[in-house]
Amino acid sequence: MTTPRCSKCSHAMDEGFILEHTQGGYLQAQWVAGPPQRTWWMGLKIRGREVRPIVSFCCSRCGHLESYAKPDGA
Ligand SMILES: [Zn+2]
Repeated sequence: MTTPRCSKCSHAMDEGFILEHTQGGYLQAQWVAGPPQRTWWMGLKIRGREVRPIVSFCCSRCGHLESYAKPDGA
């Protein structure tokens, strides 16, 4: 993926990710297809859903964020 330019100020953006801090440690946030559905034992149901890691770009000038959850191979 080429590094995008900020859609707000056209400055270069830095690649990163959204951090999730769980009891298991630090993780990369994931995109999950469909609306959130609660379960009583796991918090949210994700079984059978498409899950993709989120890559996020941050504008080094204005701080605007742009996130992508591309499918495998895209
Ligand atoms: Zn910007």
